[in-house]
Amino acid sequence: MSERYAFIGLGHLGGNLAASLIRNDFAVIVFDRDPAAVERLVAFGAIAASSPAEAAAQAGNAITCLPSPKVSEAVLAGPGGLLEGLPRDGTWIEMSTNGREEILRLAALASAKGIETLECPVTGGVHLAAAGKITALVGGDAALYEHHRPAIEAMCAKSFLMGPIGSAAVIKVITNMLAFIHLVAAGEALMLAKQGGLDLAQSYHAIVASSGNSFVHETESQLILNGSYDIGFTMDLALKDLGFALGMGKDFGVPLDLATRVNALFQQGKAAYGGGAWSTQIVKLLEDAVGTDLRAPGFPARLEL
Ligand code: NAD
Repeated sequence: MSERYAFIGLGHLGGNLAASLIRNDFAVIVFDRDPAAVERLVAFGAIAASSPAEAAAQAGNAITCLPSPKVSEAVLAGPGGLLEGLPRDGTWIEMSTNGREEILRLAALASAKGIETLECPVTGGVHLAAAGKITALVGGDAALYEHHRPAIEAMCAKSFLMGPIGSAAVIKVITNMLAFIHLVAAGEALMLAKQGGLDLAQSYHAIVASSGNSFVHETESQLILNGSYDIGFTMDLALKDLGFALGMGKDFGVPLDLATRVNALFQQGKAAYGGGAWSTQIVKLLEDAVGTDLRAPGFPARLEL
């Protein structure tokens, strides 16, 4: 019989991950502080619980996908949290993005109660999560990873065991740092094309076929050209990840000139458009500065596979 999972945090990412488990016939017991998010998953076949502890007790294992280490700590170790419900041989799978120090500290809290942790942040964006095709970056014990691999593979097309707990946080933060740098670069490229008098749609396609292409250009530039900017990932989350990257730069003695500049731009973006604005809207800073937009016909409002 396959394992059962509690799933806490049913937002833009977690809602899609939990739905993938259900689609693959896992029993999923859900909790979110937002009742509408719970209702969406119950309509899809999940069982609702009244607290993380109750969900964890019913399932025996728990997955979290939450906005910050502070929230993860409250859901894990706070009153009514997972550690009150998980059995001693249960596993906590943390799919939120954390810094290295944060996940090490949280895993130690779980370990003190006899609970093993797998860190499993994901990368690729909401549209890949919706299709069950996102990439998992895993940190933790190899046997524990093998044990939960069927669930990970129900949610993710690819998974990479990076090493012990903490190593997945490092590579996850690296991949997001690259993505934000690429996003700012894609905006500057498109603006140069526009101001240079080029057709923006044709420029998009030429860049896709060029040595300057990136995953971010292929995906997020389409949302910029459409004008929706709707990537399902916010400025606040981008700033969280860039903060982790800059912290790792300090800890590991690596000067991060580009990430430092991009972090300053995201702080400007948050001040201009709010922390809940889509991260893709960072390009709007340039649109506003130049006094023109980057719209072109033929691009979707949301990414779909
Ligand atoms: P989100 O804000 O859309 O979802 C967070 C969910 O957690 C919400 O449904 C919220 O109601 C719930 N929540 C908050 N506090 C809670 C609490 N105390 N108890 C129960 N539920 C609570 O965020 P998201 O975009 O889904 O991101 C979740 C995590 O995944 C973050 O760590 C983010 O960095 C990471 N991530 C997101 C993406 C993406 O494309 N959105 C991609 C990779 C990684």
